[in-house]
Amino acid sequence: MSTADHGVQAFIGIGANLGEPEAQVRDAFDRLAQELPQTRLTGRSRLFRNPPMGPQDQPDYVNAVARLHTRLEPLDLLAGLQAIECACGRKRDGSRWGPRLLDLDLLLFGEQSLDLPGLQVPHAGIAERDFVVLPLLELAPGLQIPGAGPLEGLARRFDGAGLIPIAEPEANVAAAEGRR
Ligand code: ATP
Ligand code: CA
Ligand code: CA
Repeated sequence: MSTADHGVQAFIGIGANLGEPEAQVRDAFDRLAQELPQTRLTGRSRLFRNPPMGPQDQPDYVNAVARLHTRLEPLDLLAGLQAIECACGRKRDGSRWGPRLLDLDLLLFGEQSLDLPGLQVPHAGIAERDFVVLPLLELAPGLQIPGAGPLEGLARRFDGAGLIPIAEPEANVAAAEGRR
């Protein structure tokens, strides 16, 4: 049976560190919900503020993870993610880990392991990245990562000290009212 028959659960890593990163990550969730065919958004992690990987002369990132249910094939889902990146103003200049308005990584696609030109799944960076593993844990604590074992085991290696949760907008409003 192919993917298209019944669909799979997929997870998307969202990151932004230019412009208004928090607003862009929230906008990315909405676009994932509305702009991908044959796909539903089924979960949103909290947003986290996080120092950049690689070059340090760039602003902090805001990161989050989305859970999808999709009937798309993996390469079609990746194309859809890249279309959203472009719609959000991302310019591909070839530099890795440089600053960007929006980065959408296909982290997991069901239980599949894929090594295609332009698409490795599970995403190669999952195990080393607290800003991926800890939000994923919020959405799917019992998850198994193909080739890397239980997500909970990976999460034990991180204390999350560098990840600062960002309050929900409602909480911001309530906090502002409390200060008046
Ligand atoms: P990293 O992938 O280490 O997080 P990055 O997100 O900065 O780095 P990009 O410049 O966004 O890297 O993408 C580089 C290429 O990675 C893309 O052109 C894409 O084809 C490829 N790629 C391979 N596997 C994946 C995946 N699982 N999700 C997204 N892109 C992927
Ligand atoms: Ca990335
Ligand atoms: Ca990417």
